[in-house]
Amino acid sequence: MKPESHDRKPVTNQRDAAAGNSAAAAPKAVVSRGPVETGWLPDWVYTGEKFEPGLAFFADALGRITRFSREPADLAMARRLAGQAALPGLVNAHSHAFHRALRGRAELRGRADCDALSSWLKALDRVAARLSDEDIFDTARMAFMEMLLAGITCVGEFHYVHHRPDGAPQPDPNFLGLEVIRAARDIGIRIALLKVAWVRSDFRAAAGSAPARFFTGPADRFVRDAEALRTFVARNYPADDAWMGVAPHSLAAVPLDQLKAIGTYAHSQRLRLHVHVSTRAGENAACAAEYGRTPVALLAEHGLIDKRFSAVDAIQITDDEVKLLGAARATVCACPITGHNLGLGTAPAEKLIAAGAGVALGTDSHVQIDLLKDARLLEYGLRTMRQQRAVIGADVATTLFHAATVTGARSLGATGGALEVGRPADFFTVNLYDPAIAGADAGSLLANVVFALERRAIRDVWIGARQRLANGRHSLHGPIIGRFVESQARLWAGS
Ligand SMILES: [Zn+2]
Repeated sequence: MKPESHDRKPVTNQRDAAAGNSAAAAPKAVVSRGPVETGWLPDWVYTGEKFEPGLAFFADALGRITRFSREPADLAMARRLAGQAALPGLVNAHSHAFHRALRGRAELRGRADCDALSSWLKALDRVAARLSDEDIFDTARMAFMEMLLAGITCVGEFHYVHHRPDGAPQPDPNFLGLEVIRAARDIGIRIALLKVAWVRSDFRAAAGSAPARFFTGPADRFVRDAEALRTFVARNYPADDAWMGVAPHSLAAVPLDQLKAIGTYAHSQRLRLHVHVSTRAGENAACAAEYGRTPVALLAEHGLIDKRFSAVDAIQITDDEVKLLGAARATVCACPITGHNLGLGTAPAEKLIAAGAGVALGTDSHVQIDLLKDARLLEYGLRTMRQQRAVIGADVATTLFHAATVTGARSLGATGGALEVGRPADFFTVNLYDPAIAGADAGSLLANVVFALERRAIRDVWIGARQRLANGRHSLHGPIIGRFVESQARLWAGS
């Protein structure tokens, strides 16, 4: 496989392998065994196809899995995780961390003559106009800590707040993006910072009409800023702890010619390219009115869809567009809790998978952070739509868990997504005696986890062989919640 990465460090070879089309194509281990070895022995470990008992796994000092073993001496040496099963860390391919500040603030019906999203957009406007730099950091830490509590070890942060609350530019245009990365590193979660471009307010609107806080200027300026961010992140963070992708918000927000310029930059640096597409039918109609094509057809026509492309939402796509995404081996990122909450519908995930596209999952609006619930709601949305069961595949739980891990990693260019030699030791454990999954055997445990697990049952989270959650608690649990509560009180005072 030809290497593809956004930096030149050897570790990215593994990320490139994660971008391949086969989950089984595990990267060769490129790291030597470090001086310190850590090992774990849960009751069961999920190795990609099944849960296996009596199997220890080990990581080196760099946090990479080096071996699995059933040797008695190794079993005795490994840290025993009694009553627990270990699963690969979940990958959240689409997050807007600051949306965590809106939770529970927009659950009212808008005026009948308004758009269905009006109450939510009104709350978003309020938040965008008030969140200070510090609030953005505190809210991001809150969202990322919740992700850890949900078993998520890597996040794709679709970051679009660039300016100060009054719309004035920050002295460093990448300041808030770097604050979000700092928040992620505080928590210990891996982060793909997807730097968002936003130029105009809607289709056919003038360039520069974007909301002032989100405006990124024309494509050449965006690319300059993005390149500065990319090189800064590459120099200052380990390559698989934090890295950058680019994300023109949507065709409504970025006109086609500018989106193409950003796509050319992404291609030159082998960066991931994420775009919201076909979230609502009205968007398709407006896109067709301006360009004569719906979004996916238009992007494909201009060569922007390939294996490093992720279409976020893709709810209102045609069967022909499904084929285009499949032929390009692109990924669709579905955000089912958000879609259900906002009344948006469900992406045709089973058709996409059958066509060869990947389907990943994201928590998007953070009305609830529970990626396994996103997984089950994707299937339930399809069941309701098609009026049948087991729509997404013959083995529903395996397909959905694959979406929440392997395909998410592929979407972000992350190194994790599976417990395999050469990949990072990113995993979470579940309490096998939790009421939600008690009684499951090896054959039914994955379906229990996908369809019934509650966050409460997640005990420990390890990222790069470092423990980040112990007994369901992060070391910064109290301060993070305390600061977030204060931020919320300021934000919603007088509402
Ligand atoms: Zn989104």
